[in-house]
Amino acid sequence: MLTGMHIAVIGGDARQLEVIRKLIELDAKLSLVGFDQLDHGFTGASKEQIDEVDFSTVSAIILPVPGTNLEGQVDTIFSNEKIILTEELVKQTPAHCTIYSGITNSYLDHLVTSTGRKLVQLFERDDVAIYNAIPTVEGTIMMVIQHTDITIHHSKVAVLGLGRVGMSVARTFAALGANVRVGARKSEHIARIFEMGLAPFSLKDLSSHVSDVDVVINTIPHMIVTSDVISKMPAHTLIIDLASKPGGTDFRYAEKRGIKALLAPGLPGIVAPKTAGQIVANVLAQLLKEGMDGRGEK
Ligand code: NAP
Repeated sequence: MLTGMHIAVIGGDARQLEVIRKLIELDAKLSLVGFDQLDHGFTGASKEQIDEVDFSTVSAIILPVPGTNLEGQVDTIFSNEKIILTEELVKQTPAHCTIYSGITNSYLDHLVTSTGRKLVQLFERDDVAIYNAIPTVEGTIMMVIQHTDITIHHSKVAVLGLGRVGMSVARTFAALGANVRVGARKSEHIARIFEMGLAPFSLKDLSSHVSDVDVVINTIPHMIVTSDVISKMPAHTLIIDLASKPGGTDFRYAEKRGIKALLAPGLPGIVAPKTAGQIVANVLAQLLKEGMDGRGEK
C-alpha cells in the first residue's frame, strides 16, 4: 500500500487514468493537475491547479509518457490550463521526491540536475518496453490491414531490428502466416532469428533483401531505409516505421517514388490506452512502493 504518500499526477491522456485508479486503490494521497475537465471524480484525489499543490509534502511527481516539452510544458487532454513544471516548484519538494516520466529531454534532464531530484524514465526499462511491445504490435497489424489490399497471411514482410519491438513484431506476423525475414547487425541476433524459424539477413545487405517485399516494418531509430534501399522495393511496398521520431526512413524519397511510408508513433496509446496505462501503472506502483520501503515508511 502507499497509504499517506502524497503524489502529484500532472497532465496526460487516457493512459494516466489507469495510473490514477491504481494509486487510489493503493491509498495514496493524490493531487491531480490538469484534470479539471474530466467528468469522472476520483474519491481520495483532489483536482488542483499547479500553483495550488503543496509541493513540500509531494514524494513523487508523475508526468505523462512524453514528460514535458522543451519549455517545461506538460500536455493534458483534460484541461486548458497551461501547466509548466518549473525549477521553483520542484525545489519546494522534499529531497527524496522522485519524478517519473516515460521519456526525458534536455529540459527535464536540466531540471533534475539543477534541483538534485531523481528522474525515472519508465520507457527505458526492459519490462515496460517488452509489455508495451504487445499493443505496439497490435497497432502495427491494424495499420498493415488498413493500408494494404492483401492478407498478412502469405505476404512477404521484412522486419528491421530484433530489439524488444522487433522481436514481437516478427513473431506475431509469422504467427499470422506471413513470410517473415528479419534484418539485424549482431551475429547473436542473426542466430536468434534463425532459431525462431524466420529468415535472417544482415542489415549491411538490406538493399538486396527488399526486391520482392510487400511490407517493411522498421524498428531501428536510425536512418536505415535509405533512398538506395527504397529504390530497390516494388512500387506496392508499404513501409511502416515504428522507430521514435524522426524514424529511420527517407520519407521524402519514398514519397517521390510513390511508395507509401508511414511513421507510426504512439501506437499503444492509440489502440489500447487502457492496457498501455495499466502497464505504466503496475510498474509505477511497484517502484513507488520500493521507494517508500527504502525510506523506512510504512
Ligand atoms: P530496442 O530494444 O533498443 O531495439 C532497437 C533495435 O534497433 C535493436 O535491434 C538494435 O540493434 C537496432 N539498432 C539500433 N541502432 C542501430 C543502428 N545504428 N544500426 C542497426 N541497428 C540498430 O528498442 P525497442 O524497444 O525495440 O524500440 C524500437 C523503437 O520503437 C524505438 O525507437 C522506440 O522508441 C520505438 N517504439 C515505438 C512505438 C510505436 O508506437 N511506434 C512503441 C514502442 C517503441 P543492436 O542491438 O544491434 O543495437
